[in-house]
Amino acid sequence: MGMRVGVTRDDRFAEHKTGHFHPEQPRRIQELYRMVDREFAGRVQPVQPQPAALEDVERVHTPAHIRKILKTAEQRMTNLAPDTPVSARSYLVAWLAAGACLQGVDMLLTDQCDAFFALVRPPGHHALPERSSGFCVFNNIAVAVRYAQANYGAGRIFILDWDVHHGNGLNDIFYHDDRVYYYSTHDLMLYPYSGEPGQIGTGRGEGYTMNIPLSRDFTDDDMLYLYSRTLLPAIRGFAPDMIMVAAGFDAHCDDPIGRCRFSESLYARITRLILSASHSAGRPIPLFFSLEGGYEPLALTRCIRELLRELTGSGCTETESAFSPSAGAADLVRQIEEIHRPYGVIS
Ligand SMILES: [Zn+2]
Repeated sequence: MGMRVGVTRDDRFAEHKTGHFHPEQPRRIQELYRMVDREFAGRVQPVQPQPAALEDVERVHTPAHIRKILKTAEQRMTNLAPDTPVSARSYLVAWLAAGACLQGVDMLLTDQCDAFFALVRPPGHHALPERSSGFCVFNNIAVAVRYAQANYGAGRIFILDWDVHHGNGLNDIFYHDDRVYYYSTHDLMLYPYSGEPGQIGTGRGEGYTMNIPLSRDFTDDDMLYLYSRTLLPAIRGFAPDMIMVAAGFDAHCDDPIGRCRFSESLYARITRLILSASHSAGRPIPLFFSLEGGYEPLALTRCIRELLRELTGSGCTETESAFSPSAGAADLVRQIEEIHRPYGVIS
């Protein structure tokens, strides 16, 4: 059965220019919109965002950081970090990316859709309260989490970060928080080189962060095994009011930055797993996605096509439950279970 799916669709997201040789390029979003227009017309609801309000961004970012972004307005090129160049219109695009995520929260939590995909750039999961890095300007998902809590009293929010890089911004912002669960799978040997399994949160937030470093040899089936044994129990145990996915697709085998070997169908299969957990919760949990990485535009487009097919009910519907993992994946699950067992999420 298809869900009501909202997606962000706004050509202004191509106005953030990063230079000819930068992997986070406008073509990523242009290819995605072409695919959505061609294949999902009438099946998803495209919406145009407004820029986020200052008070919404201020819930996460420092005034000094916000001023720094605004000062880049109409400057030809500014380097916010060595890997994060911005152009004259990037400030507006960054405010729109955050605003698109807020619009998604509004639509989900007022029951205008069941799932929402913010097809935006720049990405956000590396951005820290006081600085931009790793191609990210504002932490779009963190801004959306705080907005959902402030405006809808959304109690518990579960963040799933499947980008191949560790979302250090999200990890750090919610590290002390027991109302926001951060779950990430990533390659520890890539930027920002954080996300060891022992990083599990601190203070009240202890046990509310799960970091899982991947082996580059893992197959799609290894990932599904890993997710069914660690992600699903974490979602069930936490019982979130909303699931927000930091949806990067740079663990795809064709990605020029990631070194993993997953296929595009992995993302639809993980989404199906999440939907099964969501339905067994009694009431479907609102499901939000925001685009993070994914640097081969055509591979990125194929991944998101598979995912949208799953959401709109035109994908494969068979529910999977048994996966035969490699020895490495089975070992990793045992290690994660041991670390998290004291917190009651995983039995
Ligand atoms: Zn990434």
